[in-house]
Amino acid sequence: MAHPHVYSTEAICLRRTDFGEADRILTLFTPSYGKVRAIAKGVRRTTSRLAGHLEPFTRTQLLLAHGRDLDIVTQAEACERLEALRDDVWHATAAWYLAELVDRFLEDADPHPHLYKLFMAMLEQMNEDAEAHETARSWLALRYFELHLLSDLGFRPNLHHCVNCDRPLRPEENGYSAELGGALCPNCRHLGQRRLSLNALKVLRLLQSSTWEATPRLRLEPDLQNEMEGVLQSTLRYHLDRELKSWNFLQKAPTR
Ligand SMILES: [Zn+2]
Repeated sequence: MAHPHVYSTEAICLRRTDFGEADRILTLFTPSYGKVRAIAKGVRRTTSRLAGHLEPFTRTQLLLAHGRDLDIVTQAEACERLEALRDDVWHATAAWYLAELVDRFLEDADPHPHLYKLFMAMLEQMNEDAEAHETARSWLALRYFELHLLSDLGFRPNLHHCVNCDRPLRPEENGYSAELGGALCPNCRHLGQRRLSLNALKVLRLLQSSTWEATPRLRLEPDLQNEMEGVLQSTLRYHLDRELKSWNFLQKAPTR
Protein backbone atom coordinates (compact mmCIF):
# COMPACT_ATOMS: atom_id res chain seq x y z
CA MET A 1 0.00 0.00 0.00
CA ALA A 2 1.47 3.39 -0.96
CA HIS A 3 1.84 5.86 1.87
CA PRO A 4 -0.27 9.00 1.58
CA HIS A 5 1.56 12.20 2.52
CA VAL A 6 0.15 12.23 6.05
CA TYR A 7 -1.37 9.09 7.46
CA SER A 8 -2.75 7.79 10.71
CA THR A 9 -1.95 4.32 11.98
CA GLU A 10 -1.77 2.15 15.02
CA ALA A 11 1.77 0.89 15.68
CA ILE A 12 4.06 -0.85 18.09
CA CYS A 13 7.77 -0.17 18.28
CA LEU A 14 10.06 -3.09 17.33
CA ARG A 15 13.36 -1.31 17.69
CA ARG A 16 14.60 2.19 18.53
CA THR A 17 17.94 3.92 18.18
CA ASP A 18 19.00 7.27 19.61
CA PHE A 19 19.81 9.73 16.86
CA GLY A 20 21.40 13.18 17.08
CA GLU A 21 20.92 15.13 20.30
CA ALA A 22 17.34 14.35 21.17
CA ASP A 23 15.81 12.33 18.32
CA ARG A 24 15.10 8.67 17.98
CA ILE A 25 14.78 6.45 14.92
CA LEU A 26 12.00 3.92 15.36
CA THR A 27 11.24 0.70 13.55
CA LEU A 28 7.47 0.39 13.83
CA PHE A 29 5.14 -2.50 13.12
CA THR A 30 1.74 -1.39 11.78
CA PRO A 31 -1.34 -3.41 10.74
CA SER A 32 -1.83 -1.91 7.24
CA TYR A 33 1.62 -0.68 6.20
CA GLY A 34 3.78 -3.44 7.67
CA LYS A 35 7.18 -2.36 8.94
CA VAL A 36 7.77 1.40 8.84
CA ARG A 37 10.90 3.35 9.79
CA ALA A 38 10.23 6.75 11.27
CA ILE A 39 11.99 9.52 13.15
CA ALA A 40 10.61 10.98 16.37
CA LYS A 41 12.19 14.41 16.64
CA GLY A 42 13.05 15.73 20.08
CA VAL A 43 11.48 12.70 21.76
CA ARG A 44 14.30 12.39 24.30
CA ARG A 45 13.56 15.83 25.75
CA THR A 46 11.33 15.65 28.83
CA THR A 47 9.22 18.46 27.41
CA SER A 48 8.45 16.54 24.20
CA ARG A 49 4.75 15.94 23.48
CA LEU A 50 5.76 12.55 22.04
CA ALA A 51 7.74 11.39 25.09
CA GLY A 52 6.03 8.65 27.05
CA HIS A 53 3.88 7.59 24.07
CA LEU A 54 6.58 5.71 22.16
CA GLU A 55 7.98 3.44 24.86
CA PRO A 56 8.69 -0.23 24.14
CA PHE A 57 5.69 -2.61 24.29
CA THR A 58 3.21 0.22 23.95
CA ARG A 59 0.42 0.17 21.38
CA THR A 60 0.25 3.69 20.03
CA GLN A 61 -1.96 5.68 17.68
CA LEU A 62 0.31 7.74 15.42
CA LEU A 63 0.12 10.46 12.84
CA LEU A 64 3.02 10.13 10.42
CA ALA A 65 4.21 12.37 7.60
CA HIS A 66 5.74 10.57 4.64
CA GLY A 67 9.41 11.56 4.32
CA ARG A 68 12.04 10.85 1.69
CA ASP A 69 14.09 8.40 3.75
CA LEU A 70 12.20 8.15 6.99
CA ASP A 71 8.63 9.01 7.88
CA ILE A 72 8.19 11.64 10.60
CA VAL A 73 6.13 11.13 13.74
CA THR A 74 3.95 14.21 14.15
CA GLN A 75 1.55 12.96 16.85
CA ALA A 76 1.55 9.97 19.20
CA GLU A 77 -1.03 8.78 21.70
CA ALA A 78 -0.41 5.62 23.71
CA CYS A 79 -3.49 3.37 23.81
CA GLU A 80 -2.19 0.29 25.62
CA ARG A 81 0.90 0.01 27.80
CA LEU A 82 2.15 -3.47 28.59
CA GLU A 83 3.98 -2.37 31.69
CA ALA A 84 4.39 -5.69 33.49
CA LEU A 85 6.43 -6.89 30.50
CA ARG A 86 9.07 -4.23 31.10
CA ASP A 87 9.54 -5.08 34.75
CA ASP A 88 10.30 -8.76 34.36
CA VAL A 89 13.61 -9.79 32.78
CA TRP A 90 12.52 -13.08 31.23
CA HIS A 91 9.24 -11.79 29.79
CA ALA A 92 10.86 -8.57 28.53
CA THR A 93 13.62 -10.58 26.83
CA ALA A 94 11.02 -12.92 25.31
CA ALA A 95 9.08 -9.90 23.97
CA TRP A 96 12.26 -8.39 22.46
CA TYR A 97 12.95 -11.75 20.86
CA LEU A 98 9.53 -11.70 19.12
CA ALA A 99 10.18 -8.10 18.03
CA GLU A 100 13.54 -9.14 16.56
CA LEU A 101 11.88 -11.99 14.66
CA VAL A 102 9.38 -9.59 13.06
CA ASP A 103 12.08 -7.00 12.35
CA ARG A 104 14.40 -9.54 10.69
CA PHE A 105 11.80 -11.46 8.69
CA LEU A 106 9.68 -8.59 7.33
CA GLU A 107 10.69 -6.26 4.53
CA ASP A 108 9.76 -2.58 4.87
CA ALA A 109 6.27 -1.62 3.68
CA ASP A 110 5.07 -5.20 3.26
CA PRO A 111 1.77 -5.49 5.18
CA HIS A 112 1.11 -8.58 7.33
CA PRO A 113 -2.12 -7.67 9.19
CA HIS A 114 -2.66 -11.19 10.49
CA LEU A 115 0.86 -11.33 11.92
CA TYR A 116 0.41 -7.91 13.52
CA LYS A 117 -2.70 -9.10 15.32
CA LEU A 118 -0.94 -12.24 16.48
CA PHE A 119 2.12 -10.28 17.64
CA MET A 120 -0.09 -8.04 19.79
CA ALA A 121 -1.96 -11.05 21.19
CA MET A 122 1.32 -12.77 22.14
CA LEU A 123 2.62 -9.61 23.88
CA GLU A 124 -0.66 -9.30 25.79
CA GLN A 125 -0.37 -12.93 26.85
CA MET A 126 3.19 -12.41 28.06
CA ASN A 127 2.21 -9.22 29.90
CA GLU A 128 -0.52 -11.14 31.71
CA ASP A 129 1.94 -13.93 32.57
CA ALA A 130 4.53 -11.45 33.82
CA GLU A 131 1.92 -10.10 36.25
CA ALA A 132 1.08 -13.64 37.38
CA HIS A 133 4.77 -14.73 37.63
CA GLU A 134 4.07 -17.48 35.13
CA THR A 135 6.23 -18.66 32.22
CA ALA A 136 4.71 -21.90 30.85
CA ARG A 137 2.02 -20.20 28.75
CA SER A 138 4.51 -17.61 27.46
CA TRP A 139 6.95 -20.33 26.45
CA LEU A 140 4.16 -21.89 24.39
CA ALA A 141 3.31 -18.44 22.96
CA LEU A 142 6.90 -18.12 21.65
CA ARG A 143 6.69 -21.44 19.83
CA TYR A 144 3.19 -20.58 18.55
CA PHE A 145 4.40 -17.28 17.15
CA GLU A 146 7.50 -18.83 15.53
CA LEU A 147 5.36 -21.43 13.72
CA HIS A 148 2.76 -18.92 12.55
CA LEU A 149 5.38 -16.38 11.47
CA LEU A 150 6.94 -19.10 9.29
CA SER A 151 3.50 -19.96 7.82
CA ASP A 152 2.61 -16.33 7.19
CA LEU A 153 5.84 -15.84 5.24
CA GLY A 154 5.40 -18.99 3.16
CA PHE A 155 7.87 -21.17 5.12
CA ARG A 156 5.32 -23.39 6.87
CA PRO A 157 7.12 -26.58 7.96
CA ASN A 158 5.44 -29.75 6.65
CA LEU A 159 4.49 -31.86 9.68
CA HIS A 160 2.11 -34.28 7.98
CA HIS A 161 4.02 -35.85 5.09
CA CYS A 162 7.65 -36.83 4.67
CA VAL A 163 9.28 -33.92 2.82
CA ASN A 164 11.39 -36.36 0.80
CA CYS A 165 9.09 -39.23 -0.24
CA ASP A 166 5.68 -37.62 0.53
CA ARG A 167 4.44 -40.62 2.55
CA PRO A 168 2.04 -39.66 5.39
CA LEU A 169 3.89 -39.65 8.73
CA ARG A 170 3.06 -42.43 11.16
CA PRO A 171 2.84 -42.21 14.96
CA GLU A 172 6.49 -43.06 15.60
CA GLU A 173 9.81 -41.27 15.90
CA ASN A 174 10.59 -39.39 12.67
CA GLY A 175 13.33 -37.01 11.56
CA TYR A 176 13.42 -33.30 10.70
CA SER A 177 15.27 -31.14 8.22
CA ALA A 178 15.03 -27.33 8.19
CA GLU A 179 16.66 -27.26 4.72
CA LEU A 180 14.13 -29.69 3.21
CA GLY A 181 11.20 -27.92 4.91
CA GLY A 182 9.85 -30.31 7.53
CA ALA A 183 9.55 -33.85 8.84
CA LEU A 184 11.22 -36.95 7.39
CA CYS A 185 9.89 -40.50 7.69
CA PRO A 186 12.15 -43.19 9.26
CA ASN A 187 13.29 -44.33 5.77
CA CYS A 188 14.40 -40.82 4.82
CA ARG A 189 15.46 -39.44 8.20
CA HIS A 190 19.16 -39.87 7.39
CA LEU A 191 18.68 -36.81 5.10
CA GLY A 192 18.02 -34.57 8.12
CA GLN A 193 20.08 -33.58 11.16
CA ARG A 194 17.40 -33.89 13.82
CA ARG A 195 15.13 -36.41 15.41
CA LEU A 196 11.47 -35.57 15.76
CA SER A 197 9.86 -37.46 18.63
CA LEU A 198 6.19 -38.38 18.47
CA ASN A 199 5.41 -35.95 21.33
CA ALA A 200 7.19 -33.05 19.62
CA LEU A 201 5.36 -33.83 16.36
CA LYS A 202 2.00 -33.86 18.15
CA VAL A 203 2.56 -30.57 19.99
CA LEU A 204 3.97 -28.81 16.91
CA ARG A 205 0.98 -29.95 14.82
CA LEU A 206 -1.40 -28.79 17.52
CA LEU A 207 0.22 -25.34 17.65
CA GLN A 208 0.28 -25.12 13.86
CA SER A 209 -3.41 -25.91 13.42
CA SER A 210 -5.09 -24.34 16.50
CA THR A 211 -6.14 -20.81 17.18
CA TRP A 212 -4.24 -19.39 20.16
CA GLU A 213 -7.44 -19.25 22.26
CA ALA A 214 -8.06 -22.97 21.62
CA THR A 215 -4.50 -24.01 22.42
CA PRO A 216 -4.55 -26.00 25.67
CA ARG A 217 -2.41 -24.91 28.62
CA LEU A 218 0.24 -27.57 28.15
CA ARG A 219 3.10 -28.01 30.59
CA LEU A 220 5.93 -29.76 28.81
CA GLU A 221 8.98 -31.60 30.11
CA PRO A 222 12.32 -29.79 29.67
CA ASP A 223 13.56 -32.42 27.16
CA LEU A 224 10.52 -31.90 24.96
CA GLN A 225 10.90 -28.11 25.26
CA ASN A 226 14.55 -28.33 24.18
CA GLU A 227 13.68 -30.55 21.23
CA MET A 228 10.95 -28.16 20.01
CA GLU A 229 13.22 -25.14 20.46
CA GLY A 230 15.92 -26.93 18.44
CA VAL A 231 13.54 -27.75 15.58
CA LEU A 232 12.17 -24.20 15.37
CA GLN A 233 15.49 -22.39 15.86
CA SER A 234 17.09 -24.46 13.09
CA THR A 235 14.19 -23.53 10.78
CA LEU A 236 14.29 -19.82 11.62
CA ARG A 237 18.08 -19.69 11.25
CA TYR A 238 17.92 -21.51 7.92
CA HIS A 239 15.50 -18.94 6.47
CA LEU A 240 17.28 -15.94 8.00
CA ASP A 241 20.74 -17.25 7.30
CA ARG A 242 21.97 -15.84 10.59
CA GLU A 243 21.72 -16.02 14.36
CA LEU A 244 19.07 -14.18 16.31
CA LYS A 245 20.84 -11.98 18.85
CA SER A 246 18.00 -11.85 21.36
CA TRP A 247 17.61 -15.64 21.30
CA ASN A 248 20.99 -15.95 23.00
CA PHE A 249 19.94 -13.42 25.65
CA LEU A 250 16.73 -15.33 26.20
CA GLN A 251 18.66 -18.56 26.73
CA LYS A 252 20.58 -16.84 29.52
CA ALA A 253 17.70 -14.90 31.08
CA PRO A 254 16.64 -16.14 34.52
CA THR A 255 13.31 -17.96 34.74
CA ARG A 256 11.46 -18.35 37.98
ZN1 LIG B 1 10.27 -40.46 3.47
